[in-house]
Amino acid sequence: MHILLMGPPGAGKGTQAANIVKKFAIPHISTGDMFRAAIKEGTELGKKAKACIDAGNLVPDEITVGIVRERLAQDDCKKGFILDGFPRTVEQADALSKILAELGIDLKSVINITVPSADLVERAVGRRICKSCGATYHVKFSPSKAEGKCDECGGELYQRADDTEETMKNRLSVYEAQTKPLIEYYQKAGLYVEIDGRQAIDKVFADVVETLK
Ligand code: ADP
Ligand code: AMP
Repeated sequence: MHILLMGPPGAGKGTQAANIVKKFAIPHISTGDMFRAAIKEGTELGKKAKACIDAGNLVPDEITVGIVRERLAQDDCKKGFILDGFPRTVEQADALSKILAELGIDLKSVINITVPSADLVERAVGRRICKSCGATYHVKFSPSKAEGKCDECGGELYQRADDTEETMKNRLSVYEAQTKPLIEYYQKAGLYVEIDGRQAIDKVFADVVETLK
């Protein structure tokens, strides 16, 4: 089961991907997570990506396509994957089509989680992530039981450096200009499904599961 999860920043892609992983046992491939891991490790990739991410801009296509190409060629992707946050430009979508054709993979579904822009800043600014296991919380909408501590592993929660009101403004305009055209792209391909991301997390997940039946 090969799935693309799309939506603006803060729509709930990572949250739903974690639920999909638990239910369907397929790998979660998030380009944002891959870049953050590279920054943490201080690799060349991390150095190249950091300034773009901090400013809320996209990392150049050739870099991003390169890491996705390598990751999708790994054996665990044969049975399925959830691709989260990629593609984000038409160039990336074209590159992905070629990579998938080379690997003999057909996408099952392109799921777009829609949330009005007005709600997205609050979602991002209130987001907290576990340093140890990556679980996602929200200070208001999905709080951890003990403040600052992960329910799943007890790890410390942190706020992403790019989850500020200021950076979110740019991330949202980048989304409108560069990523939103992909809706039409995948509608034309006949794979596109839209899910209302304003609903509670469990309800959004129920819709995701229904789509994947
Ligand atoms: P994305 O991966 O699309 O950027 P996340 O899954 O990290 O988004 O979610 C962004 C923030 O919004 C997180 O703090 C998360 O807990 C919260 N969130 C996710 N889904 C919902 C929802 N349906 N309702 C309210 N808050 C949500
Ligand atoms: P995310 O974790 O999906 O919110 O992504 C965080 C940041 O990583 C984005 O604001 C971009 O700077 C960068 N990024 C993630 N995915 C991509 C992509 N497909 N193309 C370019 N940049 C990306």
